[in-house]
Amino acid sequence: MNAAVPAQGVPDLAGPVPIGPCVLLKHGEVFLKGRNRHLFVERLHDNLRGALRGALRGVPGSVWIKEMQNVTVLGGDAPQDELIARARRVMGFVAVQPALRVETSEEAIVAAAVGALDGAAPGTTFAVRARRRHKPFPLTSTQLERLVGARIQEAHGLPVDLTRPDIRVEVEIDRKESYVSGLRHFGQGGLPVGTSGRALVLLSGGYDSPVAAHRAMRRGLRCDFVHFTGAPYTNAASAFKAYALARELNRYQPPGKLHIVALGHAQKQLAVAGAGRFQVVGQRRLMVRAASVLARRLRAQAVVTGDALGQVASQTLSNMALVDEAATLPVLRPLIGWEKQEIIDEARRIGTAEISVLPDEDCCQLLAPRQVSLRTKLEDVAGFEKRLDADELIEEMLASAQVTRPGADEAAPAVTPAPGPVRTTG
Ligand code: ATP
Ligand code: MG
Repeated sequence: MNAAVPAQGVPDLAGPVPIGPCVLLKHGEVFLKGRNRHLFVERLHDNLRGALRGALRGVPGSVWIKEMQNVTVLGGDAPQDELIARARRVMGFVAVQPALRVETSEEAIVAAAVGALDGAAPGTTFAVRARRRHKPFPLTSTQLERLVGARIQEAHGLPVDLTRPDIRVEVEIDRKESYVSGLRHFGQGGLPVGTSGRALVLLSGGYDSPVAAHRAMRRGLRCDFVHFTGAPYTNAASAFKAYALARELNRYQPPGKLHIVALGHAQKQLAVAGAGRFQVVGQRRLMVRAASVLARRLRAQAVVTGDALGQVASQTLSNMALVDEAATLPVLRPLIGWEKQEIIDEARRIGTAEISVLPDEDCCQLLAPRQVSLRTKLEDVAGFEKRLDADELIEEMLASAQVTRPGADEAAPAVTPAPGPVRTTG
């Protein structure tokens, strides 16, 4: 499909689009999808349009997207930095490359490629890589690479390095227009959000669960979030954090909902029923049980947690197995094999670390026993669980949940995300 596709909410451009700057978005795993490829590309473009909608708010001009095989071209009058920042958060693109759009001719391509290295420091190495989508072009890819390389050397006197160049000049040749790029930003990679279905993320205030959510989205799951507070026995700090985290995470997907659920009353009941050193496992079981009920209502097929094997006492294999036993949907744990430091590094990269580091009053500390049981068996919890009416507790909890869609109406900040002011959930 080669026609320019207007981004939703912006008018189509009449006639040919003028030569000028644009952005090349390289598809990741989407291109492996064989006969279903078009469904993945449609979803990828829907998500891209959604991400761009905010970019156009208050900005005069229009944006267009066009698909060439395995590459999406994005252009228009909106600020290019803003387009790049937005596209870099859309799951499914491995690279985001500012480029120049020129007519398909040797002279125009050479001029753009020479221009791409303007201002490069002496000694900067480069390589040229050309790709022909339009086979009748008179030169082969290799001939064009040699020609462009020679002209760059003439103009700038820079050395070629084909194995590890400092700058890779990429030329994509299409029928009427070609694209020349000398810069590559990483995209998120992965699969378009929504192509793997829906999931409900158990979002706490720590480092782990936001990173787990990002991984789930990156594998194509559209995510909603649930956060349990110790209310009425704890303050609202953890809910504010969950809100800020969900807003940050929603910048990577069509915004999902955040459900804030008060667990304090149920936690008290567990303690009164005699949970003792099994209090934490009892709470976890109640959380996933409630999350499973909520997930089904949201048409989600799984719940996601930030557990990493052995990271803390409650994350031993036997405790996790006991949590799974209470869930009525699959429990996905994308971070199961991750080290804490890897998780923190990733949290910094995705922009959630600076929120996670803020202090809060976690509901898990409420009524926590001095020693957490490392190996819990079903018999250990069966006794006190029998004394509770879990279904009724869960119904009460969910009925009074506060539901918001963090970040749905906001324009995201450009390039580096910084957490905005924390908002209340009311
Ligand atoms: P995190 O950094 O995500 O808080 P953690 O290392 O502190 O994780 P735990 O507190 O044992 O580990 O929690 C394990 C997982 O259980 C969390 O990653 C999260 O998915 C879920 N969870 C814990 N507390 C809550 C909560 N208050 N609300 C929602 N989910 C929670
Ligand atoms: Mg935690």
